[in-house]
Amino acid sequence: MGLFDKFKEVTKKVSEVENSIYHEKRDYLEIYERNLQLEKEITERTKELDVANKRMFTLQHILDMMNSSTPLENVLEAIVNSTQGELGYMHCSIIRKHQDAEGEYLHIIAQSNDGLIDRLNNIIGSPAIQTRRLSYSKDSIFADSLRQQNIIQSKSIDLSLKSILPEVDEEVIHQVITNQPVKSIIVVPLYVQKKEFGWFCVFSSRDELAISEMDFLGMFAKQVELAITIADLFQAVREQAVTDALTGLYNRRYFEEALAKEVQRTKRIMQPFSIIGIDLDFLKKINDTYGHAFGDLAIKTIADVLKKNARSVDVPARIGGEEFNVLLPGVGSEGAKIAAERIRKSIEEVEIDTIGHITGSLGVATYLEHSDNVEELLELTDQAMYTSKRNGRNRVTVAQNINETSWQDIAVNTFIDILSKNRIPKAQHLSKELCEKLSAPANKDEISKDSLYAVADMLARLYNPMHTSGTFKNKVLMGVSLAKRFDISKTDIDNLRVAILLYDIGNLMIPDELLQKATPLTDEEKEKIRNHPVIAARDILKPISYIQDVLPIIEHHHENWDGTGYPNKIAHDDIPITSQIILILDEYFALIEQRPYRNKLSSKDALEVIKSDAGKKWNRNLVKEFISLLEHDIV
Ligand code: GH3
Ligand code: MG
Repeated sequence: MGLFDKFKEVTKKVSEVENSIYHEKRDYLEIYERNLQLEKEITERTKELDVANKRMFTLQHILDMMNSSTPLENVLEAIVNSTQGELGYMHCSIIRKHQDAEGEYLHIIAQSNDGLIDRLNNIIGSPAIQTRRLSYSKDSIFADSLRQQNIIQSKSIDLSLKSILPEVDEEVIHQVITNQPVKSIIVVPLYVQKKEFGWFCVFSSRDELAISEMDFLGMFAKQVELAITIADLFQAVREQAVTDALTGLYNRRYFEEALAKEVQRTKRIMQPFSIIGIDLDFLKKINDTYGHAFGDLAIKTIADVLKKNARSVDVPARIGGEEFNVLLPGVGSEGAKIAAERIRKSIEEVEIDTIGHITGSLGVATYLEHSDNVEELLELTDQAMYTSKRNGRNRVTVAQNINETSWQDIAVNTFIDILSKNRIPKAQHLSKELCEKLSAPANKDEISKDSLYAVADMLARLYNPMHTSGTFKNKVLMGVSLAKRFDISKTDIDNLRVAILLYDIGNLMIPDELLQKATPLTDEEKEKIRNHPVIAARDILKPISYIQDVLPIIEHHHENWDGTGYPNKIAHDDIPITSQIILILDEYFALIEQRPYRNKLSSKDALEVIKSDAGKKWNRNLVKEFISLLEHDIV
């Protein structure tokens, strides 16, 4: 081969190689570009996956909560907070549609904790949006979404807010979203068991609403519907349950039904029945020392004793945390006392792991024998049980017939009732201390009376810092001496003693600034103070059945003899004499006490003031007896 040929061959090869390089380069570029594309896609898919994952986790979290026994409010709260926080909305709420006599309205049942809602509340002022009665206007997105059964987005946030808050000025509403990145409001209609329920609602910082976003908002709304359905079902099941989960004893509802049936049966066959009330002693101490699980064990122990001791017709029930009742059909108080004693002894004998021995305090009351009113019977059982506590626990007390109950017992039980049920918010911080004081052993009559007066004094000091200790004792002694000068029955005198301790209890509901005001009161303020006997009698004492005879005495303790008093403006003998006695005592003891707006008066000067109102504020005869009482220093 000549040189030329060789050269030609090499050139050809070079060209071939070049060719192939060119092709590969093209391939390579193609691959490179495809790779880039792929990478981009992967990044996007990862992002989507990330979002989907977040939604899944949020849903999973909600599902977990729904499967546990978490209360509905907490589940809904978790849903709104996750939607807002994790999925990047500015606000999320669940709104319920209600209807009453005045028409349809909306109520927010859950809302996310976010700056937007705080801002809204700050700007629109009180009451907060979640407690307002929100309007349901027929042309709002709320109504539209239910009508169309569809998710609706609206970019006119002003309008949407205005539709539920028509009473708020447009400008005020506008202020809420000014400078806020909120762009749209999206509402998803909710249906529970095929009925319209309300809305799942979010505030978004985006204009658009993609199909995928609609899909997952729909998914969250389904979760809300499911949570509510499950909660409704739980409620239905709970309502059907007759036993208590911890102890297996009957529950309160079943006990009450059984009691009602027993009353009907008793009326037919004229047989008595009794109730034994049992309260575990020192449970708090057991909880504090050994933990709640051992507290539960102590409760179960009592339940087991009750089950073992019950006849087939008896109804042993757990009424509350550590309170039990047993209904004993056909058993009178003698029999019930024996049964209660047997229960007491069995409780004491059980040896419990770690805790050792426990005890219970028991009370017994019998239908017809102690009362023919079921409510009263339950109260008497309770009182008897408390007497067992007062007298040292681990014992049985049979109820006293209501007429034989001493006035101290009635007063002590009333104070305990008021304090332990926190009927007076202002006295809440004292309630434990005062209840303990009242529960001190009642063996010695005088001691229990003294603690009663001391408690009344302590409560009075909450509304009158100048209240003098011992005033209640003196008022009761003087009131009784005065009453004895008139034709008043022993029962009414006892009612008077209780009324003296309680007549001003309504003062504890009057705001402090009014009570302590050093300047004269305005008419409106006077009106407020005037209402106190009514507040006292009605609100605080009305629920306590055994002091109903005391209520009228209290309610009329500001009526004047000449009909110029309040609240009913009754006159002369229409006013119970016991109420008149309280009025005169109240005035006298107030006059001899220091006040922010005047000095205290001497007893003599106070009597002069009282005398000057004879025939007007009070009956002349009453004034005469009152003066004679003080002059002879009979008290
Ligand atoms: P007392 O002898 O005067 O009855 O004292 P106590 O400590 O038993 O009574 P108190 O009423 O002061 O406290 C009752 C406590 O019982 C308060 C509450 O925390 C506890 N308790 C109520 N229900 C349960 C329950 O189901 N389990 C447990 N472990 N404790 C409960
Ligand atoms: Mg207890």
